[in-house]
Amino acid sequence: MSTPYPLSVWARNVSPSPTLAIDAKAKALAAAGEDVCGFAAGEPDFDTPEHIKEACIVALKGGKTKYAPTPGIEPLRQAIAERYGVEYGLKVVPAQVVVSPGGKFSCHLAVMATCSPGDEVIIPAPYWVSYPEMVKLAGATPKFVACDDRAGFKLTPAQLEAAITPKTRLVILNSPSNPTGAVYTRAELQALAAVALKHNLYILSDEMYEHLVYDGVTPTCIATFSPEIEARTIVVAGFSKTYAMTGWRIGTLVAPLPIAKAIAEIQSQMSSNVTTFAQYGALAALKEKEKTAAALKEMLVAFDRRRKLLHAELNKIPGVSCLLAEGAFYLFPNISSFGLKDADFCAKLLEAEKVAAVPGSAFGLEGYLRLSYATSDAIILKGVERLARFCATLKK
Ligand code: PLP
Repeated sequence: MSTPYPLSVWARNVSPSPTLAIDAKAKALAAAGEDVCGFAAGEPDFDTPEHIKEACIVALKGGKTKYAPTPGIEPLRQAIAERYGVEYGLKVVPAQVVVSPGGKFSCHLAVMATCSPGDEVIIPAPYWVSYPEMVKLAGATPKFVACDDRAGFKLTPAQLEAAITPKTRLVILNSPSNPTGAVYTRAELQALAAVALKHNLYILSDEMYEHLVYDGVTPTCIATFSPEIEARTIVVAGFSKTYAMTGWRIGTLVAPLPIAKAIAEIQSQMSSNVTTFAQYGALAALKEKEKTAAALKEMLVAFDRRRKLLHAELNKIPGVSCLLAEGAFYLFPNISSFGLKDADFCAKLLEAEKVAAVPGSAFGLEGYLRLSYATSDAIILKGVERLARFCATLKK
């Protein structure tokens, strides 16, 4: 159906999320009775821990059903500020914290508060699919820097330096990474932050997967490096991935006071507060520490086992090579040896073997697959067996 006038430039330029599209297709096939092995989901396959749900129900029944302050209920902002002190030794006051409807919106607000039309934003590729769209919706221009498996999917300070122009305003860093699971070391992040400081850039540090790390890795919060780095850094995190709360839509950000204030003002005109009673569930996640830690540990043990399983099985397939990522719940195997575009590879794989995977090109790097291991061991084994069979047909 046509519209009386052309849609806006924003509506015409935005691309739909390829990950959600593939996940929806796989779910539709499954609903139609097909035996689908889904590796496309970007969410834990666990349910939200009981004590978190319970606190939300109590709040709902207790009448926490009205508008709340835009940047979040005070006890939650306080608890988030405290956790940065406990976990990272970072001194944060509640006024620096903004609670938003999902980490996606937190990132979007961070871009909106720092970028104007004409600005450039450096995004290492592969990247989380939403970053370029957010940048475009702010009227700014994404500038991609390719970081392939030979570099461990990590941006180097020299690459960052080379990508900076007088128009560069912001660099977006994401560790642990979606889609690769790569985790930057503290030293690597320090070197990148130093370049951002030298060129007077803002840093959006997306630490959404901070707690999902393996092999004894400790997460890094970029704002801890120095007061000068802190003054230009917006740290995004949230409840979705760590506490299996994707449907709750609660993201958090910590920013220097003037930026946090600006972000809260933008949010006040776009969405107001996160669902009030949901915030009480999030509060329980932070307050009832022992129960939350036990639930997280259970998830981490399962994710770690599946990570190793998937990694080992993938590397047994001739023509596939995969790095063992240290974080999140994704692996990003290289399938370029098959000589097929990765989008074609994924379409044929779904068609022939009912295995759902997202092509690397959706994340800005051709020649790879993103496989989520937030699924059962049985599906991993079955799915990789099918993938191997599919790859063997391509080799002939
Ligand atoms: N950042 C990254 C890197 C992500 O992968 C996601 C979700 O997939 C988000 C932010 C946003 O999370 P949510 O909006 O579900 O809280």
